[in-house]
Amino acid sequence: MQTRAYAAPAANQPLEPWNVERRAVGPDDVQIDILFAGICHSDIHQVREEWGAAKFPMVPGHEIVGKVSAVGANVKKVKVGDLAGVGCLVDSCGACGSCHDHHEQFCDKGAAGTYNSTEMDRKTPTYGGYSQRVVVTERFVLKVPGHLDPAGAAPLLCAGITTYSPLHRWKCGKGTKLGVVGLGGLGHMAVKIGAAMGAEVTMLSTSESKAADAKRLGAAHFANTKDEKTFKTLAKQFDLLIDTVSAKHDYNAYLRMLKPMGAMVCVGAPPEPQAISAFSLIGGNKTLAGSMIGGIKETQHMLDFCGQHKIVADVEVISAKQINEAYERTVKGDVRYRFSIDTSTI
Ligand code: NAP
Ligand code: ZN
Repeated sequence: MQTRAYAAPAANQPLEPWNVERRAVGPDDVQIDILFAGICHSDIHQVREEWGAAKFPMVPGHEIVGKVSAVGANVKKVKVGDLAGVGCLVDSCGACGSCHDHHEQFCDKGAAGTYNSTEMDRKTPTYGGYSQRVVVTERFVLKVPGHLDPAGAAPLLCAGITTYSPLHRWKCGKGTKLGVVGLGGLGHMAVKIGAAMGAEVTMLSTSESKAADAKRLGAAHFANTKDEKTFKTLAKQFDLLIDTVSAKHDYNAYLRMLKPMGAMVCVGAPPEPQAISAFSLIGGNKTLAGSMIGGIKETQHMLDFCGQHKIVADVEVISAKQINEAYERTVKGDVRYRFSIDTSTI
């Protein structure tokens, strides 16, 4: 089935209209008519080959929300008309230890990514959410609470789960002093979700102009990390830091803001490596950790949590023609706080 999409024809090229072929709905498949697709900074890293060689033409988009328009005979999770989502994954082997433990993102065989990847046959390319329709096996389809605004719910499928998962794992809750580093798509979700979990949130940002927004989103405090004094006044203040920064920065400086026994979790993925001193971790028994999206079960928990707390992303809805400009603006930090593509304009 031919489906309209927006694709980057080659690395670093502007995205343009393109058609993708979607498979016929099989017995375990769900067909979703996409309503909105968020623009994640990872889309930009991949179109620009900042994380290594990529597959082109590339249809990015792994923050997908739409209406179910057809289901296969075996499908039980959703029915035609339901609001449904697809995140960063569309399949995995289903049999290895990680799949068994609901960490499909770490599948031994390599999970099938929503785009810039292949299906598990390792031949058929996958194309993402900057398109009007997608067909995905039921196991990787998420139920999106029907009362959430679909444009704002789309970014939950990546920015939401990527921040919810480490907050949950590191037991963020009442009494937690949480610092969120970088107020972009992921950062603003970390503030909203961390505050809803009961933490006292401090926004650590290079953009003074975002101070009022940080408070509106749920942060109790704002600190400007361009000011060197911030690192002194906030030394040993945090139980947990969630670092969402997309560009190179000094992890050692942030580790000094952790209390003894504290943990800093990197979710931002700057392309360049950064040196870390062992002493930044030894003094205070600190943990530096990473976290990659989340498994399907946890993603559903996150969506249910966001449904209960009425949490969606703050989005600027754009038409497909504005995608290239939105990429430039995201790189400049000029987004409040996620672009969500209205896929009817593709
Ligand atoms: P984004 O909307 O562009 O936000 C990134 C924020 O980082 C910016 O708003 C800015 O916040 C801050 N920042 C940018 N350059 C900086 C610099 N040079 N120094 C200090 N701060 C800087 O990006 P996003 O979509 O939230 O994604 C963030 C990162 O997470 C990307 O690298 C993305 O690939 C990665 N990611 C990882 C996962 C995962 O599974 N781990 C999933 C999705 C995305 P301020 O203006 O507040 O400083
Ligand atoms: Zn993403």
